[in-house]
Amino acid sequence: MFRHPPRALVALAIALSATAASPWGADGHRTVGALADRLIAGTHAQARVRALLGDLTLGQASVWADCAKGVDPSKNYAYTSPGRFPECAIFETPAGEAEMIDFVRRNDTNCPRAPGDASCHAQYHYTDESFQRRRYHRGDVGTRDFDIVAAISATLHVLEGEPAPAPFDIKDKREALLLLAHYVGDVTQPLHVGTAYLEPDGRVVDTEASTFDPATDTQGGNRIVTIRVATNHRSETLHATWDDIPEALHSNHIDAAWLMLARAEPAPRGDMQAWPAQWAGSTLTQARLALKDLRFGPGQGLQWTVPLTGRYDDSMAPIKKRQLTVAGARLARTLTAIWP
Ligand SMILES: [Zn+2]
Repeated sequence: MFRHPPRALVALAIALSATAASPWGADGHRTVGALADRLIAGTHAQARVRALLGDLTLGQASVWADCAKGVDPSKNYAYTSPGRFPECAIFETPAGEAEMIDFVRRNDTNCPRAPGDASCHAQYHYTDESFQRRRYHRGDVGTRDFDIVAAISATLHVLEGEPAPAPFDIKDKREALLLLAHYVGDVTQPLHVGTAYLEPDGRVVDTEASTFDPATDTQGGNRIVTIRVATNHRSETLHATWDDIPEALHSNHIDAAWLMLARAEPAPRGDMQAWPAQWAGSTLTQARLALKDLRFGPGQGLQWTVPLTGRYDDSMAPIKKRQLTVAGARLARTLTAIWP
């Protein structure tokens, strides 16, 4: 669930963590996809998924949208990261790379971009609703017509046989499914949906109560550096802290008890096109839990700091498990709704 930081921050991110580019980690996405694989086993939806993905499982497909970030528009859309991310190896064939390149070419400059902004498709993975908001509402500060909520909606349109709404360019149902298998994970990562906007001194800004100042944007916590209280060491960004998942939540730990939890998730209500905003709304509740008690401090330049205690680490694990479980259940429920 990595998001591309602006260029000025790339050096900072690399300096902070060698794994800064590790996407919920790939591990989180694979867990979401693998849960869905198990939940749709034996259904008509599984047959349709196989028809579109061939040998790829949803667990494998779930990282495709992050792997496509290895296509570099500034290098004539070459795929520049072969061998860098093990989870992407399965797509690193001539046909696989051509598929990623084709997607990125169509989804690079198709959205309104300011100088220095990431490629459009890299911005499909998140939204930046303020964590004080109770609901996701398109038009609020940080939301976009091409954010994660809009992106999921676009994949659903294509999977239902309709064209993708602008600015998305999704060529067919296979591409839509590759994207959906990833975005359903992203929209449950608390900091991919809810974020803190901060004054230079670390005070939290209410974006809807004041005139918006872009300098308060922490970019989903990518500009907030964590400091471990126990050691006083600067560590990864707050965003990366939430992307990481403990070993116990990797897909090889999915068992009958975990699948039962996923099956117990309530079915989404109403029209399918309303689901992505509902999902973002429920993630905002988790983002509030994740952010409301933190005390942010001033940093230097484009960053802030936040001290994290061991107790905070302990509080993250159950939220992460819940979110991964919900995401797996939603992916399965969506596919069985499309292909009953
Ligand atoms: Zn992502």
